[in-house]
Amino acid sequence: MSDVLRVDPIACEAHGLCAELVPELIEPDEWGYPIVAETPVPPRLARHAKRAVAACPALALMLVRQSRRLPAGEPEGAGLSETRGASASWPEEGR
Ligand code: SF4
Repeated sequence: MSDVLRVDPIACEAHGLCAELVPELIEPDEWGYPIVAETPVPPRLARHAKRAVAACPALALMLVRQSRRLPAGEPEGAGLSETRGASASWPEEGR
């Protein structure tokens, strides 16, 4: 299983906060809209990615869990679940 970051382009308001919180995975375009890495979030950045999702004021940033590879012909979105905004959680720091 792996998580990938996704942005709802309709909801995004180009605050740029997410790119500041996890610049390794999100780069702002010339208007401030995020360009998100399509690669899975590496474990070393998982906490930062979850923090960026929780901090997004427009609830436009989400983590999508890819639970399995899709066989050919399976509809897009099958095997995915998402976490947005304040429902994103991260492990207690310092443990
Ligand atoms: S923090 Fe949210 S609203 Fe702001 S640029 Fe990132 S995804 Fe868009």
